Amino acid sequence: MLLGSHVSISGGYVNAAIEAARLGIDTIQIFTKNQQSWKEKTVTEHEGKEFKAACIKHGVKQAFSHAIYLISLGSENDDIAEKSMLALAMELERCKTLGLTHTVLHPGAAGTLSKVEAIIRIGDRIKNVLQVLKGNPVKILLENTAGQGSSIGGKLEYISDLIDHIKSKQIGLCIDTCHAFAAGYDIRDPKGIEKFFKETDNRIGLEKLLCFHLNDSKGELGSKLDRHAHIGEGFIGLTPFKYIMQNFPHIPKVLELPKENDADKKNLQILRDLSKK
Ligand SMILES: [Zn+2]
Repeated sequence: MLLGSHVSISGGYVNAAIEAARLGIDTIQIFTKNQQSWKEKTVTEHEGKEFKAACIKHGVKQAFSHAIYLISLGSENDDIAEKSMLALAMELERCKTLGLTHTVLHPGAAGTLSKVEAIIRIGDRIKNVLQVLKGNPVKILLENTAGQGSSIGGKLEYISDLIDHIKSKQIGLCIDTCHAFAAGYDIRDPKGIEKFFKETDNRIGLEKLLCFHLNDSKGELGSKLDRHAHIGEGFIGLTPFKYIMQNFPHIPKVLELPKENDADKKNLQILRDLSKK
């Protein structure tokens, strides 16, 4: 079904695949390192082999990485910009060793720059990383964001401009339902969600859409709040989830929700049921 969840690598990468089997999912997303730290990490060939074997053994067909949130490629602070580029490069290298084909990245913020200047700056830095890592095939999926602060991921047009600036086949798109709604796209009813995907297609191209983050929203429409709610328990309702499950069966989907009381199991079941209704 290419439906799954963000799972923990605590205790080793292999544990992410074991958790997938427990949840009965074929798609996962992981942080390849501690996402709250700049401290770098390299993955050994042995760890990579072990993880790839575990994915095959436990039926994981698609595994994404999510780049750490500290990465801020639009930063006007040279030290943070350097760290961000290094962190992205290391992420792509870890992905390659682990056999992960895509990493999801938040595009970054403009700070005091104009959006146009920020897009050029972020785009140039991503190009720079791709150039240094020539031959590394891992794709970067730019994720739409809730549009908080000067974030440039909140509007499809900014992501589109960024993709146009980078001009690389290695760049794709990840759509997060919570972020789209919080950024002001009213996807609550079939007409709204259809309009959203039409705009995505016109501006970016649906062929670039390679991953969904399926999260309901604790914030209201246009609240710019990046707070994920369990499926059907936030302000979005079930309609867009049904639409996505039924209209995009071929695109992998990942939950990014709190895990208390084995909540993933319930959220996944709701989505599986919606795919049939
Ligand atoms: Zn997300």
